[in-house]
Amino acid sequence: MHDFKYKNNHLYCESVKIESIVKKIGTPCYVYSHNTLVDHFTKIKKAFKDIDPLVCFAMKSNDNLAVLRTLVKQGAGFDIVSVGELKKVLIAGADPQKIVFASVGKTEDEITYAMKKGILLFNVESLPELDEINRIAKKRKRKVKVALRINPDVEAPTYSQVVTGTLKNKFGIDLKTAQKIMNMTKKYTHIVFSGLHVHIGSQITEGEPFVKAIRRVIEFQKKLAKDGIELEYLDIGGGLGIIYKDEKPQTAKDFAKNVLPLLKKTGLKIIMEPGRFISGNAGIFVTKVLYVKDNGVKKFLIVDGGMNDLMRPTLYGSYHEIVPLKKRTGRKVKMDVVGPICESGDYFAKDRMLPSLKKDDLLALMSAGAYCSVMSSNYNMRGHVPIAFVKGNKFELSRKRQTFEELLDGERIPKFLK
Ligand SMILES: *Cc1c(COP(=O)(O)O)cnc(C)c1O
Repeated sequence: MHDFKYKNNHLYCESVKIESIVKKIGTPCYVYSHNTLVDHFTKIKKAFKDIDPLVCFAMKSNDNLAVLRTLVKQGAGFDIVSVGELKKVLIAGADPQKIVFASVGKTEDEITYAMKKGILLFNVESLPELDEINRIAKKRKRKVKVALRINPDVEAPTYSQVVTGTLKNKFGIDLKTAQKIMNMTKKYTHIVFSGLHVHIGSQITEGEPFVKAIRRVIEFQKKLAKDGIELEYLDIGGGLGIIYKDEKPQTAKDFAKNVLPLLKKTGLKIIMEPGRFISGNAGIFVTKVLYVKDNGVKKFLIVDGGMNDLMRPTLYGSYHEIVPLKKRTGRKVKMDVVGPICESGDYFAKDRMLPSLKKDDLLALMSAGAYCSVMSSNYNMRGHVPIAFVKGNKFELSRKRQTFEELLDGERIPKFLK
């Protein structure tokens, strides 16, 4: 479900005609829907209402301030992966006691800052990191709550770049090491072992890998309980898949049906970290046709957006549906949709059947709310594109287009070259 629909042959976001946004802010740009965000957040909350979980939005999927503010207002918590994200989400008004911090490479500065702000949990990904957190907490005479991120060694069918839950991946702590840690908790004088965490990857459409991973972690928790170690939280991560093309992902309800019985039995407070499930279908990327090129072998639709603005196709070979803002009928032809960047990998679609299009036609790349704008770069001296945020019949610019001057900011020619 999302709020990008045609009305009288023009694409709308909620009640706003997207062409009217383009008129104001130009292309390329992103457009986000408030209602879609709220709807997906609510779907999870409702499906799991029996256990009232803390839903921590994975803000690395979309860290736009309007998005964060919308979710803060819904009572969401946040899953962060850097101190930059922490600072940003606090500006959006997040409650530190609803923030969990994962990352395999937390620095001393990051740990110290998060500690001072009083976040809920550090999701610890290695033994040396645990030593480091203990040392820093001791130095500051504090006690901090941690959850061990367990690597359950469960393979999930998704693209290889986003699998995180096998021992070939850098994430989490293997069960043997976790047991070793839990056998020497006394050594960690400034750590409160509060929970277990698991996150096996992203865009996982099936239910089974989640069940398998959660079962493994719960088995471990039971063993700990037998040894007299009581925990408070079980954080089951994110990774729920969404529809880009013809996937049939499990719904929030399916997911709940699969895992609720397991979770209830633990008696622990459940934390969830959905990112893509909430933000993925809440955004689109809008781009304009510059040229139509036919080299006798292939047809290319050259647009003004590039891989620096949206790199999922380049990075993962992933699919985004492409539709014209003004609906077209008539014969479809096969073409590559490519950007202006000087890289062969700069494409949005290959051999895509699209209606006949011409210069200045506007296109939307659908499902561009997660892992799109956040990954954008300034490659080829291109500024970040603007973001329009829509709520009902209103929209506002939530991020302006980066100017040339801003791109140069902080860079200079060394004196000895002058
Ligand atoms: C990326 C990430 C998530 C969110 O993943 P989605 O696939 O967007 O739901 C949740 N938890 C952790 C630890 C992550 O790294």
